[in-house]
Amino acid sequence: MSYTIVKVPQGGEKISIQNGDLQVPQHPIIPFVEGDGTGRDIWRASKRVFDAAIQKAYQGARQVQWMEVYAGEKAYTSFHSWLPDETVQAFREFLVGIKGPLTTPIGGGIRSLNVALRKALDLYVCQRPVRYFNGVPSPVKNPEYVDMVVFRENTEDIYAGIEFEDGTPESKRFKDLLQEHFPAEYKKIRFPATTGLGIKPVSKEGTTRLVRAAIHWALENKRRSVTLVHKGNIMKYTEGSFRNWGYEVAEAEFGDRVYTWAQWEKTREQAGEETANQEQDTALKDGKLLIKDVIADIVFQQTITRAREFDVIATMNLNGDYLSDALAAQVGGIGIAPGGNINYTSGHAVFEATHGTAPKYADKDMVNPGSVILSGEMMFRYMGWNKAADLIIKGMEGAIAAKTVTYDFHRLMEDATKLKCSEFGEAVIQHMDD
Ligand code: NAP
Repeated sequence: MSYTIVKVPQGGEKISIQNGDLQVPQHPIIPFVEGDGTGRDIWRASKRVFDAAIQKAYQGARQVQWMEVYAGEKAYTSFHSWLPDETVQAFREFLVGIKGPLTTPIGGGIRSLNVALRKALDLYVCQRPVRYFNGVPSPVKNPEYVDMVVFRENTEDIYAGIEFEDGTPESKRFKDLLQEHFPAEYKKIRFPATTGLGIKPVSKEGTTRLVRAAIHWALENKRRSVTLVHKGNIMKYTEGSFRNWGYEVAEAEFGDRVYTWAQWEKTREQAGEETANQEQDTALKDGKLLIKDVIADIVFQQTITRAREFDVIATMNLNGDYLSDALAAQVGGIGIAPGGNINYTSGHAVFEATHGTAPKYADKDMVNPGSVILSGEMMFRYMGWNKAADLIIKGMEGAIAAKTVTYDFHRLMEDATKLKCSEFGEAVIQHMDD
């Protein structure tokens, strides 16, 4: 593919995938979108951190060839497109990339640039690690108990965008169809004359690939459990099926490496609760991964009151959206919450800040770059560059523990030193040598 607006760096190579394994050259070309608003400051600080970590880890043997691609306001101003085809093509061709926050265009065309990119590359996992850094101001008593990784399904659910606005011809046609073919269901609508409608597709394929990715990741990273979060008691054939299909894939594909609560239930019915408990205890002592499930409403309470019982979480799109932000609040909020949108089958991945562009702080060199820095950390770990990733974590831990932080943490901490966005990046680099 040739590019006219994107400049492909000379001397770099593409990341590729072979038989499911990522092939990462020593000088990979990585596309990045700096992002709108505060994205510019954040990207500048983050890139310095990334390059420093790689240099310290590999002493020049490895180096990223950064390749700027365009989306959002910068793309619209320069190329009259919010998301130029070349940008999607670059993420497709070079496999792994990173982006800052983007302004959501108001009115017409694209609903959200992030969603458009996820759809184009079928990035079916939104992976959000939630962990605590010592010293970060937190609203809970024991934020250090929080060490979870949310696998949120990224392509289905209410987010598929099948909606009918009340009063439109489409809405009327849809309601007529419902009334004619599904009269019993139509009668369930409380105020049919003034109702907007949405459809919630949840498939076996979509569920299976998400849960498979979560279990695979949990096993690879020696985690203790995967919890399926759903509202299956109410939405039986979408959320309830998610739970059932989740247990099915766990048992069918991961066999004796996992122990499921579905198995516990079967044993309890056949041999009683004590036997089921013994079976579970033995399985966990043998190092098996526990696959369990919990209803979506109670999970918000339990992840606060019994945070240590949660590890990897696999859930659908809407639950995952709410839950990952709520969990992030326990450990310092969206200023430092990273994320990755990943297709674990094709290898495509776009890592990104989870907050928005915070336009009131744009170009003030002020906000916390932690979210993009930690998204980069995730990206390097995904690429197998663990030494660089470890140095980034070490630098973040050191900078925060030394109470040298940006305004958002500073206002909540005692005796802290307030740093600019760029200064915080430098502090992270310095603490890599601690
Ligand atoms: P926002 O940009 O996330 O900002 C909301 C608030 O979050 C800020 O006022 C600030 O709080 C805090 N915040 C955000 N980034 C921070 C950082 N790096 N460091 C410290 N604090 C940070 O949400 P918004 O104002 O609702 O949205 C603005 C634009 O971003 C919209 O166009 C929206 O569509 C877009 N957006 C993009 C993405 C994305 O690209 N992933 C995600 C969400 C929203 P305080 O003022 O209290 O300090």
